[in-house]
Amino acid sequence: MNAPASTSGAPGASGAAGPSGRVVVVGGGLAGITAALACADAGLRVTLLETRPRLGGATSSFRRGELMIDNGQHVFLRCCSAYRGLLARLGSEHLTSLQPRLDIPVLAEGGRSARLRRSRLPAPLHLAGSLTRYGLISWSERVAFARAARALQKVDRDDPATDLQSFGGWLTRHGQSQAAIEALWDLVGVATLNAKADAASLSLAATVFQVGLLSGADAGDVGVPAVPLQVLHGDAATRALTGAGVRVHLATRATVIERRDAGWAVNTRAGGCHESAGVVLAVPAETAAALIPDGALPRPASTLQALGHSPIVNVHVHYDRTVLDEPFVAGVGTPVQWMFDRTGPSGTAAGQYLALSLSAADEYVDRSVSDLRGQFLPAIERLLPRARQARVLDFFVTRERAATFRPAPGTAALRPGPVTRLPGLFLAGAWTATGWPATMEGAVRSGVAAADAALAFLPSPRPGRGRARAGPAGPSGAPAPGHPPDPPPDPPNREPVTA
Ligand SMILES: Cc1cc2nc3c(=O)[nH]c(=O)nc-3n(C[C@H](O)[C@H](O)[C@H](O)COP(=O)(O)OP(=O)(O)OC[C@H]3O[C@@H](n4cnc5c(N)ncnc54)[C@H](O)[C@@H]3O)c2cc1C
Repeated sequence: MNAPASTSGAPGASGAAGPSGRVVVVGGGLAGITAALACADAGLRVTLLETRPRLGGATSSFRRGELMIDNGQHVFLRCCSAYRGLLARLGSEHLTSLQPRLDIPVLAEGGRSARLRRSRLPAPLHLAGSLTRYGLISWSERVAFARAARALQKVDRDDPATDLQSFGGWLTRHGQSQAAIEALWDLVGVATLNAKADAASLSLAATVFQVGLLSGADAGDVGVPAVPLQVLHGDAATRALTGAGVRVHLATRATVIERRDAGWAVNTRAGGCHESAGVVLAVPAETAAALIPDGALPRPASTLQALGHSPIVNVHVHYDRTVLDEPFVAGVGTPVQWMFDRTGPSGTAAGQYLALSLSAADEYVDRSVSDLRGQFLPAIERLLPRARQARVLDFFVTRERAATFRPAPGTAALRPGPVTRLPGLFLAGAWTATGWPATMEGAVRSGVAAADAALAFLPSPRPGRGRARAGPAGPSGAPAPGHPPDPPPDPPNREPVTA
C-alpha cells in the first residue's frame, strides 16, 4: 500500500500532495471515466474502482440472441461539447452518427406528420420555416410558440428563483396551449429532461432549450451511437484509461471512504484498502449519500436522497421486415415518444429492430411485458402502416427505474458542486451541480469539474497529456512502474439490467 501524500489547507488549496499525488476515482460511469482520464492525462497517478464488471455506468449493452441491445437508447446534440470531447479522447467519436442538419420527423395518429428541420438561417430563425409548416398545432399556437421561445431565451437559468418555478407553469403563463406543450415543448423536453413540463424545473428546461435549440443554428443537430453503447463508452474507456496508466479495478465496490492520516482511504467490499491524497466520488446520488463522510457537505448527505429518481423504459421490437424508413421518429398524440431504427448497431441481418424510448416512464415502469405489448404493437401499427403486415420476431422491455434524478422545481439547491468541505474529497456525477439535467453531457461536465478541482488540490507533476506514461496496467495487468500492488478485486457481481 502506498503511503498517502500529505494534504493541507482548505478545500481547493494547491500544493497539497506534491509530485507523488494519487487520486482514487470511485465509479466508472461517464463522470468517473472523464475525471480519471483528466487526472491521469495531467500526470496524477489514478486508481478507478467500479463495482460492476464493466465500465460505462448507466450506458451499457447486453446480448439477446443475435441482437446487441442497449439498456436504453441514448441521444446527444451537437452542442454537447464536453461529451463529444470525451468521445474524441476515447477515440470513439467516429462510432456515432451526427446529423449534418437538425431534422426530426414527427408522426401522429391518423396519418398526420410534420418535420422539425433547420434551415441555413442563424438561430432562432433556423426553425422558422419548419415551424410555419408544423401542422400538428394551429397557426395561432405556432405564433405563440415563437413568442414563448423568444421569451425563454431571456430567462436567467442561474437565478435560484427560476429553479423554483415549474416549466409547465411558465409555458402556460406564456400563452402555450396543452396541445402546443405536447406537440412541441414536451416532444423535446420529455426526452432531454426525463420529465413532462409540469414536473420540470424552469432552470433545467431553459438550459435544454437555450443551449440545445437556440444557442446556435447547429446546436440541436441530433447524434446517436452507431455501435452498442458498451463499445462506444465502456470498452473504449477501458482501453483509454489503461493506456493512460490508470489502474482500473472492476467488480470492486467501495464501501467506506475515510480520512487516513493527511489523506484518504477507500475500503472495498472484498476487504481492500486504497489510500490516496484525493478521492473523486463519481457514483449515483443515493450511493454518494451513503459514502460521503460526515461534514463533507453543508447539509447531511442523506438529503441527496431528495433528488429522487425518474424512470426510463425502452420497448424493443424486432420485425421480420423494414417498417420504418427513417433513422428515428418522434411521436405526438401517441404513446410512442421516440422510435429508433437500431438494426445496424444491433448486428442483426434479419428484418428491422426498433427501440422505443419512453422517458418520464412512471406509468409504464411497473407494467408487464404482455401489457406493454398489447399497447405498443397497435400504437406502432397506427403510425407505421407496414408494421401491420410484419411478423414480430421478438418483443421485450428494458426498465431503468433510477435512470435519472427527478428534474423537479427546487432541484438546484440539492445538487452540490465538485468541491466538498473536506480537503481532497471531490464529487462528480450527472446529479451534481452542472446546471444540466441528468445527461451524458452533464456527467462529463461534472467529471471535468471534479478533475479540475482535484488538480488544483493535487498539482500534477507533469502538465499535459500522459502520453509518455510507462506501460499500461489494466484490471489484470502488472502495476505500472512506481505503483505498488493493489488489493484484489471483489467477487463478480450481477449486472442489474432488466430485460
Ligand atoms: C435508459 C437511459 C436512457 C438515457 N438516455 C439518455 C440520452 O438519450 N441522452 C443523455 O445525454 N443521457 C441519457 N441518459 C442519462 C445518462 O446515461 C446519465 O446521465 C449518465 O450516463 C450518468 O453518468 P454518471 O457517470 O454520472 O453516473 P453512472 O453512469 O450511474 O455511473 C456511476 C457508476 O458508479 C458505480 N458505482 C456505484 N456504486 C459504487 C461503489 N460503491 N463503488 C464503486 N462503483 C460504484 C456504478 O456501477 C456506475 O458505473 C439515459 C440514462 C438511462 C438509464
